[in-house]
Amino acid sequence: MMSSARSRHNTFAALELDRASDLREDQHWLAEHSRSAQARFVLLDADGRALLSADRRHLLGVDCETCLGIAAAPANFLGRSGVTDHFAIALDAESAVRAVAQTSGAFVDLRSAGASLPAFDAGLFAYARGLAHWQRQNRFCSACGAALAFEAGGHRARCTNPQCGIAHFPRTDPAVIMIVSDGARCLLGRGPQWPERRYSTLAGFVEPGETLEDAVRREVFEEAGVRVGECDYHSSQPWPFPASIMLGFTAHAEDATITLGSELAEAHWFGAEELVDGIRSGTLGISSPLSVSYRLIEHWLHDAAGIKLAEVMASSIKTKG
Ligand SMILES: [Zn+2]
Repeated sequence: MMSSARSRHNTFAALELDRASDLREDQHWLAEHSRSAQARFVLLDADGRALLSADRRHLLGVDCETCLGIAAAPANFLGRSGVTDHFAIALDAESAVRAVAQTSGAFVDLRSAGASLPAFDAGLFAYARGLAHWQRQNRFCSACGAALAFEAGGHRARCTNPQCGIAHFPRTDPAVIMIVSDGARCLLGRGPQWPERRYSTLAGFVEPGETLEDAVRREVFEEAGVRVGECDYHSSQPWPFPASIMLGFTAHAEDATITLGSELAEAHWFGAEELVDGIRSGTLGISSPLSVSYRLIEHWLHDAAGIKLAEVMASSIKTKG
């Protein structure tokens, strides 16, 4: 399978939207289309939660008329799908209360909603959340301290100081996440805040001057003392918690000796049977299907032992139920 196909399986990563970045510069077009019957608005509260339908199964695509009754805030242009133009608005606390009263919807955070939303809605929510977070965190110019004004449909911030005037753009922080294998075993770790017996693949941010592969090797060594040799790109996933993109890798250990670093409470090598038995019996937990970590474990389990993780998870639910 190509990495492009693997990425499409990741949550938040199947957003079939034309971002129409050329239209961001056309203020007349944006004004006209944000007032049209084809416009739909993702509404976010100050915590980045989105307004969902009362049953929490869909994003509430609020129309322009309803939106005007809720807030007069500027709309960010997200893109087009079919005949619909998608916008997002970040609401203050008062407007958020009005939004709930007028639509009977509910503000829900992306982690809770992500797995149950349709793929398009989950992707659009992640996109809107990421953009809104960047705007909230970037009110002032990092070069001169003057106020910033947003332009280009919300995708660029311009310094209002005429002596400075520089443009700021949304940033995304790359993080690598990897499943390391050693023959028939894979390496998983547990963070100090996590429940006992819950494990994930290792992960960390890419540093300046590093390739992604360098970052994979450094993170695995820092966290678990394991030396990684070859590694390969698996897939990617937008991860707006608050501003990352997760870059998944498979990797092979050159030296499997574990020496625990300061970031993890535990790190172990697991065989396929031990992992599957633990999940089935409910004595071992892994990352949520929302994450690339889950996809990497799924990939490894299939590769190493021909086992489908979804079937293991389903039988685990039956055992518990
Ligand atoms: Zn400035």
